Amino acid sequence: MDKDRLDPWGTSAIKDYARLQSEFGIEPVAPLLPRFKKPSSHMRRGIDFGQRDLARIVEAVEKNKPYVVMSGIKPTGDFHLGTKMTADDMVYFQSLSKKGRVFYSVADVEAYADNGLSFEETAKTAVRNVADILALGLDPDRAVVYLQSEELKVMRLGTVFSRGVTNNMLRAIYGERQIGLYMSALFQAGDILMPQLPELGGPKPVLVPVGADQDPHIRLARDLAARYHEEYGFVPPSSVYHRLMLGLGGSDKMSKRSTDNLLTLDDTTKDASRKIMTAFTGGRDTVEEQRRLGGRPEICPVYDLYRFHFARDDKHVNLVYHECTKGIRLCGECKQEAVGLVKSFLEEHRKQRDSLMGDARELLAKSRDYLTSTGK
Ligand code: SF4
Repeated sequence: MDKDRLDPWGTSAIKDYARLQSEFGIEPVAPLLPRFKKPSSHMRRGIDFGQRDLARIVEAVEKNKPYVVMSGIKPTGDFHLGTKMTADDMVYFQSLSKKGRVFYSVADVEAYADNGLSFEETAKTAVRNVADILALGLDPDRAVVYLQSEELKVMRLGTVFSRGVTNNMLRAIYGERQIGLYMSALFQAGDILMPQLPELGGPKPVLVPVGADQDPHIRLARDLAARYHEEYGFVPPSSVYHRLMLGLGGSDKMSKRSTDNLLTLDDTTKDASRKIMTAFTGGRDTVEEQRRLGGRPEICPVYDLYRFHFARDDKHVNLVYHECTKGIRLCGECKQEAVGLVKSFLEEHRKQRDSLMGDARELLAKSRDYLTSTGK
């Protein structure tokens, strides 16, 4: 792949977010913060760093107008901390107004194209993934969750869009890829634009919270929204981008492609503890150096655990940062504290998730009925 092209299917960490913003025209989130009554921890901590047309969603919330939060998961395994970030954003943006609805696509077509997983396999994983997001706080009464391969509206839009794009256009966005991935990208554009179909209430603001590396999908969907505006009246989808967590090995992003590099919500306490205790850190070679120079939280995946997910509050994040950079905190004790926080989160989450498996099945069935009732 071209080093300057974002790869939504890859595992590389993003090194320079400022460059990414200027190169791809992503706007900062910070100027919009005063318009949120209670910005999320992701926003306050600079994890949600970039956006396109987020103001459109803010306006819908302020004027009590309908909007949709749309995202999805590739059902290739258990929820991990990277996918939890998108889920946390969806739950937050849904909670801003009673007029906010969530559309959540289980991207089994992509799981087949990219990972060779059968639709039967991914349907089983989907139920657990949906239970995970319910346990993270999704309101099922304002959510539609569906399997991409079962949703004819998405398939139809993907087919319609296939006439509006050329090979060159897809190659420019994604590089030279197999046809299956191009197809799944078109279906994903179908996912993003489906909530604006007339049978689902027509054009409206749609926010897509994603990791920064997923921007190619957003650009394609926005391009298609413009191309098909006359026919469907599509409003260009808005997006909010979060930073990618460093994998526990320190170099790559946290991704399902490398199991020791990631923490899943299903890791046993023993596995989670082992992965954290052996993780790369931003610490120095010796205790003496660390005391003198301080650690480097900006390259440390253990710091990411605190900042992105497990710190008790913002004060706690600041404390870890301060103690690390001043050499007050050493990596061993810092990891031990992280293990304690992760362990109590995982135990509580799993209890809740397991009790919500029935609700997840119900939500999938209810969503299927709803989408069927709105026409094929
Ligand atoms: Fe990372 Fe903690 Fe070590 Fe700092 S003290 S480098 S945050 S593990």
